[in-house]
Amino acid sequence: MDSKLSIYGLVGYPLGHSFSRAFFSEKFAREGIMAKYRNFELPDIALLPGVIAETPGLRGFNVTIPYKQAVMPLLDRLNPDAAEIGAVNVVRCEADGTLTGYNSDVYGFVESLRPLLSGGNHTDALVLGTGGASRAVCYGLRMLSLNVTRVSRTPGKDNITYADLTPDIMARNTVIVNTTPLGMYPNVDTAPDIPYERLTRAHVCYDLVYNPEQTLFMKRAEAQGATTTNGLRMLHLQALRAWDIWTHY
Ligand code: NAP
Repeated sequence: MDSKLSIYGLVGYPLGHSFSRAFFSEKFAREGIMAKYRNFELPDIALLPGVIAETPGLRGFNVTIPYKQAVMPLLDRLNPDAAEIGAVNVVRCEADGTLTGYNSDVYGFVESLRPLLSGGNHTDALVLGTGGASRAVCYGLRMLSLNVTRVSRTPGKDNITYADLTPDIMARNTVIVNTTPLGMYPNVDTAPDIPYERLTRAHVCYDLVYNPEQTLFMKRAEAQGATTTNGLRMLHLQALRAWDIWTHY
């Protein structure tokens, strides 16, 4: 193998079509970067140390479902954001063979939402869903100085439920983020169960889903005059941030 060839990759299971491989392969070809991006489809995260040992030139990798948390005990150190969020989606392989974990989802989310927020008009946010992605989203919203209320199907001490979404709550929370998979292809006719009639032009409705480009959640919000966006910009920004982490830090 060419000793100058750097290897990057994606760790997850199952992988199927990977945005990351297409994104980085195109970037490498376009910019003449001597690197390859490979999918590492691992049925068990315990296989990771073996894969790393067998991949000379590995500089870093992305981590996706279902290993964003499970990978953490296998790393030598965590960037403070990743430690606080409790999820890692980027790993950098250091020259001494150690591994450092980062979270670039939070960067992608914050930088894609920031341009949509105007002055002091947005102070409170609802986060729909309490899964893996919601952790980075809640952390990012707090970075932007918003108060966060989590909404789940299940009552809990740290969240409200969809039945608790009163007109008052809907009026105060002018940022609403869908972190559930509702509306994602092929289930395009589904959407979170919120009182859409309470949305106004003051609301920003952000869907982490990006396939389809316009989800039912976004359509319903737009019909009320709300500003909407899908998760595509977040996806691009988190990938660019991963590249920065691998090559500049
Ligand atoms: P996840 O861990 O499966 O969590 C999703 C959460 O949504 C669950 O914890 C659940 O919360 C809620 N939920 C699940 N099924 C539901 C249903 N039928 N009805 C209502 N609520 C439901 O998924 P995730 O990893 O957080 O990812 C969530 C979405 O974000 C996916 O569509 C993923 O593709 C997308 N995503 C996008 C980006 C990006 O860069 N744009 C990055 C990461 C993830 P409760 O049980 O509390 O209701």
